[in-house]
Amino acid sequence: MMQKYISQLNEAQQQPVLQKDGPMIIIAGAGSGKTRVLTMRIAYLMGLGVDAFNILALTFTNKAAREMKKRIADIVGTNEAKNLWMGTFHSVFARILRSEADKLGFPSNFTIYDTQDSVRLISSIIKEMQLDKDVYKPKQVLSRISSYKNSLITVKAYLNNPELQEQDAMSKKPRLGEVYANYVDRCFKAGAMDFDDLLLKTNELLNRFPDVLAKYQDRFRYIMVDEYQDTNHSQYLIVRALSDRFQNICVVGDDAQSIYAFRGANINNILNFQKDYDNVQTYRLEQNYRSTKNIVEAANSIIDKNKTKLDKIVWTANDFGPKIKVHRSVTDGEEGRFVAGEIFEQKMRNQMLNGQFAILYRTNAQSRSMEDALRKRDIPYRIYGGLSFYQRKEIKDVLCYLRLVINPKDEEALIRVINYPARGIGDTTVEKLTVAANHYKRSIFEVMEHIDKIDLKLNSGTKAKLQDFVTMIKSFQVINENQDAFYLTDHVTKKTGLVQELKKDGTPEGIARIENIEVLMGGIKDFIEGQKEIDGARGALSEFMEDVALATDLDNDTGDDDRVALMTIHLAKGLEFPYVFVVGMEEDLFPSAMSLNTRSELEEERRLFYVALTRAEHQAYLTYAQSRYRWGKLTDSEPSRFIEEIKEEYLEYINPSDAGGYRYKPMMDIDIFGDIDKSKLRLAKPVTGTPPKKYGDEPVSSANIRKLKPVSNNAPSNSNSNLFDNKLTIGNVVVHERFGKGEVINLEGVGADKKAEIRFDVGGIKKLLLRFAKLDVI
Ligand code: ATP
Ligand code: MG
Repeated sequence: MMQKYISQLNEAQQQPVLQKDGPMIIIAGAGSGKTRVLTMRIAYLMGLGVDAFNILALTFTNKAAREMKKRIADIVGTNEAKNLWMGTFHSVFARILRSEADKLGFPSNFTIYDTQDSVRLISSIIKEMQLDKDVYKPKQVLSRISSYKNSLITVKAYLNNPELQEQDAMSKKPRLGEVYANYVDRCFKAGAMDFDDLLLKTNELLNRFPDVLAKYQDRFRYIMVDEYQDTNHSQYLIVRALSDRFQNICVVGDDAQSIYAFRGANINNILNFQKDYDNVQTYRLEQNYRSTKNIVEAANSIIDKNKTKLDKIVWTANDFGPKIKVHRSVTDGEEGRFVAGEIFEQKMRNQMLNGQFAILYRTNAQSRSMEDALRKRDIPYRIYGGLSFYQRKEIKDVLCYLRLVINPKDEEALIRVINYPARGIGDTTVEKLTVAANHYKRSIFEVMEHIDKIDLKLNSGTKAKLQDFVTMIKSFQVINENQDAFYLTDHVTKKTGLVQELKKDGTPEGIARIENIEVLMGGIKDFIEGQKEIDGARGALSEFMEDVALATDLDNDTGDDDRVALMTIHLAKGLEFPYVFVVGMEEDLFPSAMSLNTRSELEEERRLFYVALTRAEHQAYLTYAQSRYRWGKLTDSEPSRFIEEIKEEYLEYINPSDAGGYRYKPMMDIDIFGDIDKSKLRLAKPVTGTPPKKYGDEPVSSANIRKLKPVSNNAPSNSNSNLFDNKLTIGNVVVHERFGKGEVINLEGVGADKKAEIRFDVGGIKKLLLRFAKLDVI
């Protein structure tokens, strides 16, 4: 049976599947079947009798892991696949940390702080330390701490490292070490880990406890890692430690798709793999199955521009397919309208589903103009990333109560809901509690439990309110022991007054919030049912909360409804769609303005572009706007250099669909004007005429238009068509200011982009853009 599946792989793909043991690395370009090989490899190992319990697969998203598992289940059977350990680094090691937490002094029900929680905690520490929050910007401080953690620089290591301290002092943050120490201390006291801790603490666990290491080494005899190029140092060390005994490790990756250096990913992990293990087998896959020839070759031509790269071949036997379409618009609003219009048309013309389209952008802020346009066209869409469902205010309020039920020490949860809905516990009281908690090295909740015995100068009314709160949370805990998560959540939302509070509000937003809480309840119900179905799990609240804490929005994609996908390019890694729009192809946006300082940063942006383009199976679009709202003001922009970097033969330039109020000036390297005096071009008389037809009516053939750059937005407005649109025909004899007399032998393009091929008596055939060429018909 296995043979049937193996034969669905090409020969190069079969080799790593058939190699059972030993370290191996598969380095291959986008769409060459790396993920497919990993999946088949796991199924094959199981076919050879390897126990599912002994296999660990680490993926980029939990969604990817679920899909892999499903595919494997199809081959080996659901029951067999059930026991595979698959997921992201964070989810897999959170699970391990829970069962080993006591060794590190954490409760097994530790909370996982999300970024919001971490930022709030850091702000509060900065305030308590009376530091300037404009110098110690909480988000910046967190990202610094995060990078320390991912490099395994603990507080102790930091304090032993004068260089790092000096570095922080130079950037005006001499007390960063103290903030770091306080932050770690507070998390510990609250029984909480942040995302980076999940990796850092796993390393600590494996380093400090040889018996624990031995246990997991013995358990995970076969380890598989997808997207290996984006592992950071902390992840790298975990994989190394776990695979050290059996050395059955298979990693797959593409150096050309390394896009997380800014978050500590280390490309050297892939480059040094051969050195890290003995007798490494290296496999290369070269055939791309995902995309058309045009896309594959265009992507190759881009990545060629990078100096730091491994030499790789990527080719495809697929059709050439349509060229990559490039679209220019005046504003970001128009860009959105073009994209929505194009999706609409393609759906009509080719019977496509919404889910076959993706819109990818560099920054989340760009989604707005796309959303507006899609809504106007009634095209359903879904935004991935950004503010996740679980971070919405009303949802997080409910979740924070639930977090307290599981772990009452959770300080961030407590501070969030202690006085919401309002129950007369003011800020001053909370501050006093925090100071006391820090003083006694206890959690706030513990201080509240003993409020009678501590003198905080609180009046008896306040004390009673605090005690009521404690009693309420404890009563929830009792319910949690006897009832399922659905019952409990329902009880919590009623008992705390959350739902009444929203009902009182009565505004449409308030109603939408109640509906969201209902969606949450529905989700909990589904989760419980699903859990019960799987492996007799209880469907307990703690299991649900674990899922929530680690969910990215991408992970919650049920895939049930048919929607256009909107997401950042970073999130699109590993995915594929028939139609892909890469929008906002503008200098300073993509490549990002922040990446222009060094070659390596620019090369990372270029890899990001490579990732974006290689998501497309059939048709890719690159769109840019000449102006867009950024940081609250209208900003002029130029087309991204990345468009220029693609070989012309792969591109097709579309006329602007709404070419109002702008014209073009040639760039210096232009040749379609011959050696015309360029200074005169801008003086060319504004031309008038009928607007160009709507896109799609007229094929655009010339690739030369790409070299035309729009005049800045304040240029005097002129109409979008051309005097000669109506007048000039093939066979006309014309006189040109500089080239003299000639005959029109061909016409192409429409409106602003209409061109004439003219055979001049002296100088031969030239192609001229009519809107600039000063011609007289004789
Ligand atoms: P990326 O680098 O983007 O993660 P990848 O190398 O992981 O890409 P896959 O996602 O595994 O590539 O495969 C790309 C597409 O090609 C998938 O749709 C996959 O099913 C298909 N594919 C891979 N190998 C074959 C094959 N031998 N025959 C048919 N289709 C294949
Ligand atoms: Mg992949």
